[in-house]
Amino acid sequence: MAAQLLEGGPVAEAVSDETRMRVGALRAHGVVPGLGTILVGDDPASAGYVRRKHETCEHVGLASFNIEIPANAGQQALVEAVDAFNRDPEVHGYIIQHPVPDGFDFNQALARMDPAKDADGLHPTNLGKLVLQEPGPVPCTPAGIQTMLGHYGIDTAGRNVVVVGRGPTLGRPMALLLSNRGPGADAAVTVVHSRVPDLDDYTRRADILIGAVGIPNFITPDMVKSGAVVVSGGITWEGRKLLPDVDESVGEVASWITPRLGGVGPTTVAMLLRNTVAAAEHRIG
Ligand code: NAP
Repeated sequence: MAAQLLEGGPVAEAVSDETRMRVGALRAHGVVPGLGTILVGDDPASAGYVRRKHETCEHVGLASFNIEIPANAGQQALVEAVDAFNRDPEVHGYIIQHPVPDGFDFNQALARMDPAKDADGLHPTNLGKLVLQEPGPVPCTPAGIQTMLGHYGIDTAGRNVVVVGRGPTLGRPMALLLSNRGPGADAAVTVVHSRVPDLDDYTRRADILIGAVGIPNFITPDMVKSGAVVVSGGITWEGRKLLPDVDESVGEVASWITPRLGGVGPTTVAMLLRNTVAAAEHRIG
């Protein structure tokens, strides 16, 4: 079987088209929605992600602002950047690009953010809203994956979803999102991680299998049920090469699979801009 591709580009375009219309409505009210980014250190992958976010802002009509902090500047510099964006009326939503280098406390900075400006949906208040199923920004990569499944007509209701990885940005919120009530959710979700023996026993039962690990080619065909939908959320950079969690050969057994390039990534950025525009709309009431 050759799996069909879960291309992120068309999903991101559809989301961005809607965001662009909402930006137009805000601009008609004299509001230019603005996204801020805080980039700590000089990791080339992080710098690339931030650059891409700014380019997409320009493409969709948002203003964007960047604060760069040297890797040796210390936590106080990060705190000051957070305070500056919290105060800045032109910034409706912002992110701290993660991971941050050693010597910085990401969680402490995150907790200091104004939750109303948390474009990544990772502030404890917003993760709490996700648990309570209250409206708020949803973490971008899980939201992108959920939107992608919907875009390609893949139903999640009552289906057996296995998420490999329980990290705070991807695996854990992914499981919350898909096990919530409502359209695009209602799944039976199992989360597995490095302390689970015989991982394959779980993954082979999945109708929808989501890699959220960050180990290249971690998911191999023998771990996948024939006809399953397989999504690589986890990615690793090896030099300039992007390696997903899911080995390309899984395409022989899966019904749908994310491509090595242009899978989940573009949808993540689209969700970030959508969260920022929603924050701007919320502020004007
Ligand atoms: P994380 O906090 O490091 O989580 C990684 C998870 O993988 C942990 O739960 C870990 O288990 C699990 N794991 C590690 N080795 C394993 C093994 N041998 N068997 C089973 N599970 C194992 O990372 P994260 O922040 O959630 O991000 C996960 C991945 O998503 C990363 O690759 C990141 O780059 C990617 N990501 C992608 C996007 C995108 O736009 N596509 C956005 C955000 C993140 P333990 O908890 O037991 O250690």
